Amino acid sequence: MHTLLPTSIVGSLPKPSWLAEPETLWSPWKLQGDALVQGKHDALRIAVHEQRQHGIDIISDGEQTRQHFVTTFIEHLTGVDFEQRETVRIRDRYDASVPTVVGAVSREKPVFVEDAKFLRQQTDQPIKWALPGPMTMIDTLYDRHYKSREKLAWEFATILNQEARELQAAGVDIIQFDEPAFNVFHDEVQDWGVAALERAAEGLRAETAVHICYGYGIKANTDWKATLGPEWRHYEKSFPLLQQSTIDIVSLECHHSRVPMDLIELIRGKKVMLGAIDVASETIETPEDVADTLRKALKFVAPDKLLPSSNCGMAPFSRNVARGKMKALTAGADIIREELTAARP
Ligand SMILES: [Zn+2]
Repeated sequence: MHTLLPTSIVGSLPKPSWLAEPETLWSPWKLQGDALVQGKHDALRIAVHEQRQHGIDIISDGEQTRQHFVTTFIEHLTGVDFEQRETVRIRDRYDASVPTVVGAVSREKPVFVEDAKFLRQQTDQPIKWALPGPMTMIDTLYDRHYKSREKLAWEFATILNQEARELQAAGVDIIQFDEPAFNVFHDEVQDWGVAALERAAEGLRAETAVHICYGYGIKANTDWKATLGPEWRHYEKSFPLLQQSTIDIVSLECHHSRVPMDLIELIRGKKVMLGAIDVASETIETPEDVADTLRKALKFVAPDKLLPSSNCGMAPFSRNVARGKMKALTAGADIIREELTAARP
């Protein structure tokens, strides 16, 4: 476990082929009933083992117990009807058939808390748990009840806060909210997005993180990225607001992206979970590739606030590619740790 430049993955890892169809997002489970419960736990054990084996410092569940990072959480809430579906545009990018909010939303019982307790039993290293952010949640639903994105986001923030407090009690060290929608709806981020995020994180002793990215390496996202021009300045809108917020860590996509590195300056003082692994390409980075990205970032973030990570989740990869990328992340961070240690008087 490194205290300098502790590494982590953003979220998902590929699932074993006996649990779900490999290299597929939203892949249906191959097991049922008790066998599925056991299978998810076995997959989680493997995910922990592989992270530790490849030198990852902050351990995640690899999202082995969930089908999708947003939908699985919403499935456990009341007020949402999964039978009534409407087609909506997700993050202004692609159409999807989504469930409908038909009444007041609420969380009758914990969603991921038992899984988090199980993860806690597997390792003494710090653990991180990801939840969807309020704005990203409302963007994957059709709302017939509140008829206001802000109101629905606020309700979800309250629910997320309940879940986050119980995850913290289960021993989770870092609670991460995934908000890719922050890179799309800039006016809403300013009007109520960051406030809703802070509401979700309110009163937590655990460290809190927000992950904002340009999405998984799927076609709808890579096509969208191709239209974004030579410089991706989207973080310029959210970072100054996050710098002033109560959130401790900002997770961003960086490696092989067109995000200008100096935008990190806008979150000066916050911890930066820096994407130094590309999730849109199966090519495994060399340790020097990773080190190069980290070195450039260190112009804008203090060494004790830099957390090397991946750009986003790795679910769509083969397991070999994911393993190779974790190894590269560790080896790249090692290079920079040595440089930083050697530079000390
Ligand atoms: Zn992401």
